[in-house]
Amino acid sequence: MDIAKVIVDVPVRSTDRPFDYSIPESLKLWIEIGSRVAVPFGHRTVQGFVVSLESGETGSMSGLKPIQEVLDLIPPLSPELVELADWMSRKYACRRISSLQAMLPTALKGKAERLISLGESADELSAADGTDGFFPEEELFPMFTDTESEEREITEFVRRAGEVSMKQLTRSFPDAAETVKFMLRRGVLSESQSIKDKMGKKKIKVVDLTMDVDSAREALDGFPARSARQKEVFTFLIEMAAMLPLPLKEVLAVLQVTAGTVKGLEEKGYIEIGEIEVYRDPYQGRDFKPSKPLPLTLEQQSVYSRIAATVDEQQHEVFLLHGVTGSGKTEIYLQCIQRCLDQGRQAVVLVPEISLTPQMVERFKGRFGSGVAVMHSRLSAGERYDEWRKIREGKATVAVGARSAVFAPFTNLGLIIMDEEHETSYKQEENPKYHARDVAVRRAEQCGAAVILGSATPSLESYHAARSQSDIHFSPVLLEMPSRALGNPLPKVQVVDMREELKDGNRSMFSRRLHAALAERLERGEQTVLLLNRRGFSTFVMCRSCGYVATCPECDISLTFHSRSNNLRCHYCGHAEPAPQLCPECGSEHIRFFGTGTQRVEEELGKLFPGIRVIRMDVDTTTEKGSHEKLLGQFRDKKADVLLGTQMVAKGLDFPDVTLVGVITADSALNLPDFRAAEKTFQLLTQVAGRAGRHQLPGEVVVQSYTPEHYSIIHASGHDYHAFVRDELKHRRGLHYPPYCRLILVTLSHEQLPLLLRLAENYALNIQGKAKQLRWYGSLDKLSADALDLLGPVASPLPRLKGRYRFQCMIKWRGSIDAVGLARQVAAELEDSARDTGLQISIDVDPQMLM
Ligand code: ADP
Ligand code: ZN
Ligand code: ZN
Repeated sequence: MDIAKVIVDVPVRSTDRPFDYSIPESLKLWIEIGSRVAVPFGHRTVQGFVVSLESGETGSMSGLKPIQEVLDLIPPLSPELVELADWMSRKYACRRISSLQAMLPTALKGKAERLISLGESADELSAADGTDGFFPEEELFPMFTDTESEEREITEFVRRAGEVSMKQLTRSFPDAAETVKFMLRRGVLSESQSIKDKMGKKKIKVVDLTMDVDSAREALDGFPARSARQKEVFTFLIEMAAMLPLPLKEVLAVLQVTAGTVKGLEEKGYIEIGEIEVYRDPYQGRDFKPSKPLPLTLEQQSVYSRIAATVDEQQHEVFLLHGVTGSGKTEIYLQCIQRCLDQGRQAVVLVPEISLTPQMVERFKGRFGSGVAVMHSRLSAGERYDEWRKIREGKATVAVGARSAVFAPFTNLGLIIMDEEHETSYKQEENPKYHARDVAVRRAEQCGAAVILGSATPSLESYHAARSQSDIHFSPVLLEMPSRALGNPLPKVQVVDMREELKDGNRSMFSRRLHAALAERLERGEQTVLLLNRRGFSTFVMCRSCGYVATCPECDISLTFHSRSNNLRCHYCGHAEPAPQLCPECGSEHIRFFGTGTQRVEEELGKLFPGIRVIRMDVDTTTEKGSHEKLLGQFRDKKADVLLGTQMVAKGLDFPDVTLVGVITADSALNLPDFRAAEKTFQLLTQVAGRAGRHQLPGEVVVQSYTPEHYSIIHASGHDYHAFVRDELKHRRGLHYPPYCRLILVTLSHEQLPLLLRLAENYALNIQGKAKQLRWYGSLDKLSADALDLLGPVASPLPRLKGRYRFQCMIKWRGSIDAVGLARQVAAELEDSARDTGLQISIDVDPQMLM
């Protein structure tokens, strides 16, 4: 192979294609598909990835620039991942370099660095000089430096180092810029560029004997008595011979000797000090209780054997595992992983970032020990890099991590598990805007692996795909586990109508029921979890007397309150109306902007229950690294009566003494301006209810709501997922929302509002025009399978961000048409025609965040 096709790291659209480079003879053995290379591009050196190799026919090689350097001994990407990146770029309309980079730890985002070495004319300088580094005039006049002596110093400095970065050189010779330039021009120094990684491998110094133990014992007998400290070190190393090499730091600490003592011993030739590479281990020093496979319940057994059969056959198949909270899904995951490892293959476990608590990690490390690599954003960049290396170097066989772990560089992947598959955090909100579920399915398809999507509340997309077997994404096999593994019942859920509370004169945020339940827990010394769901900048208007919420007549989502214009707007279709002073339903004045902070709830708790111990967990109290774990640890140790928080407290926690879960306002999730609001409410209530009574003590859940008649609240309190899905699907079908169509959210931004408006109108018109030509355009009401509709442009929910105005269009489509390609093509054309005006267009395929 003589030609490499390389995707370069240059962030403009015109470079979003492979460029050809010739492969120098010396690099031929090293370059593979997936290699990271340094290549010349324009006047710079940039990082790139080899995506294919070709043998050059005579003549085709002329004019090709050669690859400069291969940056890793083992290519960081496999051909399989390179192919996956290509697919991702097409599916999510993003640049190929951004897909490739999303697969690697940030430590490998190399940047070009200028390197200085001696040039061809360097020898002339020292030959002419002849003094070889001896500068008599400087000894006579130490303050005096002329250009010539400065040149000699610099030459010596570079000669000794072989190669130095421009940065190092300017640091050592801060005033020599002119001289260095002069030397470069004359060829005394020469300049090249290389790619330097942000982060290196970590190395530590270690001590080892230079001889076998027997010879060392003999040598010890003749050891000079004067050097008692050195003798002590030598003796120690002989005793520890089986453990060698030992980290120098530990030797110093244990024996309380100085580095000088050890150095002295090395000079005598008895020992040697070397360096070894180590992995930064984020879980170092922690013990994980080993766990053995549990005998499965009947329900678990039937699910397990179904999946195990597929794993054994090394077939690609997707399973949707719908199991109620506490049904023992994790045990199924663990045993399926074991099955996969027995086949000599590897496994990836994806969990939402928020549930990567020590509890979760413990369950996997406890079963599979150090073969588990953990990847999440709370690790340092160095730790993440090392966990990733453990996988690539074959030292780990199981990866547990948040969404990007789907790219774990395993070479023989047999199983991908996605826990809580309905979680929105699986969708990345920056480029590439991928959904880890779709990527997981695609990757598993490539390598003949099984996928388990697990949840107590599967997303409607996945569930519908499993039921109808006709979805365009994938068709999972549905497996259900309706009962809890330990046999204890799901907790009783009581819904409190907050309108009644107001009517009876209770203006507090706590209903009488929740107040009494809390008091009981305090008396009995049991614990309570309180959920206050308030996310984003949700600003809907609600009547506290009757529960009325203003919604869009077209789209049936909550209208958003805009205080400046004092009106209500729909950010799907643009419908606007004035904000009401009185409730249009019941005429009450208690209609107002809705929302309470966790801090206010905490204050109120303190007033109602003097001395109550509350741990508050929200974005404010969990910014520091490790704070999340610390707070949960305190709660587990019963240092608090109440754990109060946002949706962070709803997921995955398992505390035996929690017997009460209170949801302060179920409605704040229900009235988000998002067509998934009901689904999110149902999921959240189900999850948080699952935190109560998981062990011996029975649990109780109190849900406060102003709209207790809403089907998501009724079905959540009855633990009836199937009934919820039935109602919700009916609703979605009528209004043409996923899973009955797919969405593309296109956001245009610009500093000037009038220009942006015109460009956004243009975008919408061009899409509609092209879709008409292709006979795609039309309302989704029509029965035809292929259809495309466009809503907007309207101001985005965040109408201005960082000085830029934002407008959006929503494309709804269905069938086998290439709607993504169309959205992307029209965006590219508009960007080209509006070049230099600073227009930015972002495309979000299958968006999750619609607020
Ligand atoms: P899920 O992930 O479905 O919410 P978990 O895996 O956390 O459920 O299981 C709930 C509880 O049941 C845990 O305490 C777990 O140890 C226990 N459990 C699961 N399977 C079994 C089993 N086969 N036998 C005994 N206990 C089990
Ligand atoms: Zn009202
Ligand atoms: Zn609307």
